[in-house]
Amino acid sequence: MLITRAEIGGAAPLDVRIAEGTIAEVAPSLGRRPGEPVLDAAGGVLLPGLHDHHLHLLALGAALTSVPCGPPQVRDADGLARALSSVRGEKGWIRGVGYFESVAGEPGREQLDRLVPERPLRIQHRTGVLWMLNSAAVSRLGLDRGVDAPGVERDGAGRATGRLFHLDAWLRERVGSERPPDLGEVGHRLARCGVTSVTDATAETGPVELEILVAAADAGAVQQRILVMGLPTLPDPSHARVVRSAVKVRLAEDALPAFDDVTQIVRRACEAGRGVALHCVTRAELVFAAAVLEAAGARRGSRIEHAAIAPPDAVAFLARLGARVVCNPSFVRERGDDYLAHVDAGDVPWLHRCRGFLAAGIPLGAGTDAPFGVFDPWQAMRAAVDRRTEAGAVLGADERLSPEEALALFLAPGATPGGAARRIAPGEPADLCLLDRPWRDARERLLADDVVATFADGAVIWQRS
Ligand SMILES: [Zn+2]
Repeated sequence: MLITRAEIGGAAPLDVRIAEGTIAEVAPSLGRRPGEPVLDAAGGVLLPGLHDHHLHLLALGAALTSVPCGPPQVRDADGLARALSSVRGEKGWIRGVGYFESVAGEPGREQLDRLVPERPLRIQHRTGVLWMLNSAAVSRLGLDRGVDAPGVERDGAGRATGRLFHLDAWLRERVGSERPPDLGEVGHRLARCGVTSVTDATAETGPVELEILVAAADAGAVQQRILVMGLPTLPDPSHARVVRSAVKVRLAEDALPAFDDVTQIVRRACEAGRGVALHCVTRAELVFAAAVLEAAGARRGSRIEHAAIAPPDAVAFLARLGARVVCNPSFVRERGDDYLAHVDAGDVPWLHRCRGFLAAGIPLGAGTDAPFGVFDPWQAMRAAVDRRTEAGAVLGADERLSPEEALALFLAPGATPGGAARRIAPGEPADLCLLDRPWRDARERLLADDVVATFADGAVIWQRS
């Protein structure tokens, strides 16, 4: 294929020839070869395809068939009741997602029974850490009849409360197969945003989940390259488009693992060449993670996910270690108003930082954390630039990035978030994202709607009709 009249790296107009999945030529004017399809960019900017450095594909697929139960769609108990009562005419499980305690606290089975008495209901907290079940769901899982797992909360009498902590994979194994996630729709929506590769950052990914992802890649449901994080025991798929990535370790402040155990996991992951990704959302988790990386002597390939609260001393510590950070600026927009209402004032300046990491010399990439965050890297870029919450407040004005810096959060290869951006040059893979306007206009908007075509390995995986 020949792409004509594109803007590339500030130069225009340029033609780009794609052959056998790679960029063959870039020059001011390449003649069309017989039979060669042509796409006229008409001055639009051609970018390397975006890499979302942190999302969750299977949860994303499931979310597309789930009921939103938190802000902005649902804000209070009445809204929750309305959302759940809108699910009619189907049998089986109801799956709610995106819940936040500002809606109606942390409901247990009795409260949920009042909303949905008969069908099994499970609602996921937007962090993914907590599931809340009604009695029909508790009963379906057998939690009143001897079935148990660490993380099933029970009251003083031993009765399941309906709250399940850190049991995402356990729950999916038991109910997930009822409706397999629609990864075709996931791949399509990613392509529409110009995303050509992703890192799946799910901590619990093991052989079963890996098989689903490989099958989705083989079937062409997901045409993006997929880097898969997961358990230390995750097998290597030896697949052209599905690549094993870091060991993911989720640190939770209320149940931190033994320091020496995590250090050992990190050391082994680095020795195995996989590297490690440590999930940190609180101050204490970040300091713990940095201490672990230091003790393990981990440098290459180690990264911190979220770093949602990063005070200056922790940032300096990470900078000394040479760790990478993968941030989620879209939470500034999506959750900023909640943060301003609920987070300690002393922590507010250190929330979802961007500039602070760059200024310290820390390589910084970004992910949408979809489905826990909105499935649109352009929204994340806008939030990194304007730092506006949904209500319009500014959160961390000093953390603002330029549109170019925000774009760069998604341009480094998956293996090196915050590293050098991928390039559009002969020999490079033809993973590309074409916008319908020059960068000087696109940078003022940063809208997914401006994506006019997306190429993965030289194939058109999305084109605006
Ligand atoms: Zn995540």
